[in-house]
Amino acid sequence: MSALPQLERQQEARVSPIIQYLTGLLERFAALDDGAVASYIPELARSNPDHFGICIATLDGAVYEVGDTRVPFTIQSMSKPLTYGLALERLGEDIVHRRVGVEPSGDPFNEISLAPATGAPVNPMINAGAIACAGMVAALDDAPLTLLLEAYSRYAGRAVAIDDAVYLSEKATGHRNRAIAHLLGSFDLLDVAPEAAVDLYFRQCAVSVDCRDLALIASTLANGGMNPVSRERAVGERVVRGVLSVMTTCGMYDAAGDWLMSVGLPAKSGVSGGVFAVLPGRLGIGVYSPALDERGNSVRGVAVCRALSKDLALHLVRPGERTAPPVRGQHELGALRSKRVRQPAQREAIVSASAATAIFELQGELGFMAAEAISRRLTDARTQPDLVVVDLLRVARSDRGGIEFLSALGESLNGVGGALAVSGAAGDLELELPDVVLRFVELDEALEWCEDELLGRVGHLIAPTAVPLERHELFSALDPTELERLAQSLGTLEAGPGTVLVRAGDQAGEVFLVTDGALSVFAPVTGRRLSTLSAGMTFGELGYLERGPRTADVRADTDVCCTTLPYEVLDDLAVSDPRLHAKLLHGFARVVVTSLKTANAEVAHLTR
Ligand code: GLU
Repeated sequence: MSALPQLERQQEARVSPIIQYLTGLLERFAALDDGAVASYIPELARSNPDHFGICIATLDGAVYEVGDTRVPFTIQSMSKPLTYGLALERLGEDIVHRRVGVEPSGDPFNEISLAPATGAPVNPMINAGAIACAGMVAALDDAPLTLLLEAYSRYAGRAVAIDDAVYLSEKATGHRNRAIAHLLGSFDLLDVAPEAAVDLYFRQCAVSVDCRDLALIASTLANGGMNPVSRERAVGERVVRGVLSVMTTCGMYDAAGDWLMSVGLPAKSGVSGGVFAVLPGRLGIGVYSPALDERGNSVRGVAVCRALSKDLALHLVRPGERTAPPVRGQHELGALRSKRVRQPAQREAIVSASAATAIFELQGELGFMAAEAISRRLTDARTQPDLVVVDLLRVARSDRGGIEFLSALGESLNGVGGALAVSGAAGDLELELPDVVLRFVELDEALEWCEDELLGRVGHLIAPTAVPLERHELFSALDPTELERLAQSLGTLEAGPGTVLVRAGDQAGEVFLVTDGALSVFAPVTGRRLSTLSAGMTFGELGYLERGPRTADVRADTDVCCTTLPYEVLDDLAVSDPRLHAKLLHGFARVVVTSLKTANAEVAHLTR
């Protein structure tokens, strides 16, 4: 009973600070009751001026909503960038821009702003330009409305539909838009009948959305065209650049300049009272409140966007911005090694030839800045490294410049007898690289490849050699009689490549002494390679020391041969031959110390 008030307090304390901040904005601007609901489309006059919602969606799929974020309203002019994007995607810039320009007009939304010579609307965010775009989409397909609704739905991450009452209301009264469509027809700018173009336009304006949808549409654009919640691509990244460019210069009716200065976000508003704003690479914002200022923008929508931009420093232009350096770490194979355990002579050979290697761990974006940093370091190097590994594990995004650079680097290294390998690339990185560039899932594998290349160059044997039992690390301190005494209790196990000898979680019953071949140890769950084992090495001792189940998977890389030492034999020795037992325990301690040292070195490297 007494726990209850405390629990409530804890829950209260858990309200997200983002929600608290947005709620504060809602309270602050609810008092703003200037402006009036649009009424030139009769159906819009029915909206409630008190409705007020704010929503922010981040690129990792977090959505913060306060107020009336689920009240439906029609998208109106906020459809214009989406239809423009659809036309761009299907027809390409050249064709689209013959029909509609990209210059800001500074005119109201329904102004008939057409270029004097061609009659082409000056940009796709005014009605004339938007109707021209609707005309292009109408000519694309037998069912253009389906095409359009499917595209909008991908942006919103849910199936959107038309509000028929609003559509019919505008269809019955939209004489000016109809006139614009006919004017476009007269300039030969439509491939369909003017009525078909304007009808699709009326329908696209009547698509029903809510404030949350606006934030998701905005965050999809912020995310380069992929909806960050559904992870579905709505539109290609190159198209998004065009869409956001016209939103930046023409998105807020005749207030575009003032908007860019004071808010600094590509945005689009609509006469229904919605506005969405995009901070590329970061987040999307949706605001809804139906009362409009004299320019047709939501009074509260503008106020909220101004406040958000100022309070949270969301302006597109960031004069002081410094991103994390693209090269997080650069190494030679002398300092960074794969988890393949090498014999001392091999290790020495690798270290002494390691100046031929360069390993780059990148972070952030694989673009020009990363390319510049890699090429500078490669050309600055004393020697000319020709075995290069680029690890992309911490790279969230690549652009064409970065990919082209990597391709060219791969070709040129290949030309001088070297090679480039990339590792760690996430599936959605869209890396199109030529075949000469080697691909590895893990950096560890790329490092192993690089070590093998070096060993090959200096003529070292890569395959492990067999180690007789008397020279095995665990038995080397035993005298011949002890060895003989043990021999009768030992077993042997032979296995082919790929065989799992030990599985994490299994009951443990014996220690394995590898006498021939090579194995790898993998972490449970992640499947990451933790280390490798070769002839002369031991595994399975932890189960004996801990009296617990196996802690990792061990799999044969080659044909292997192991000698097995059962735990009960060890337990018997503790009583019958404590001296031999102590020698074996000492051997286990050496094994554990060696792997602890390796682990410490790795932790030191990772946390440097
Ligand atoms: N359907 C409206 C019109 O063309 C959209 C206007 C707007 O939202 O700016 O008049």
